[in-house]
Amino acid sequence: MKTPKYITLQEVKLNNNCPECYSTEGLELTFKQRFVENALYKAITDDLINEMHCKVCDTAIFPVRWTDEIEQVVAYQKRAATPKPKSIKLKRLGWLFILADLLVLIVVILLITGVLSF
Ligand SMILES: [Zn+2]
Repeated sequence: MKTPKYITLQEVKLNNNCPECYSTEGLELTFKQRFVENALYKAITDDLINEMHCKVCDTAIFPVRWTDEIEQVVAYQKRAATPKPKSIKLKRLGWLFILADLLVLIVVILLITGVLSF
């Protein structure tokens, strides 16, 4: 299994108390969107995840530690977050593949129509 890759979509500073150090200065919610990348293309999926981190005590805040207030804020931010549209970006190798396919197709058509003969 390949580990999923994510791009950071948005970072939101929260004013809530950190469940670990109780500071109101450090909580940050990060939205990430998953993408897949291979030799041929890079594709953005509509998979969205979020992570919370406190910059003051440098701790990852997992959902089990969230208070009701934090959950409400996260739910609100989730609705406000706009993911990038799903897209596929072909890499050079991907284009080469398509071009090669196209060339083969053209040759086949030319052969069938009798324009080209060996
Ligand atoms: Zn903290």
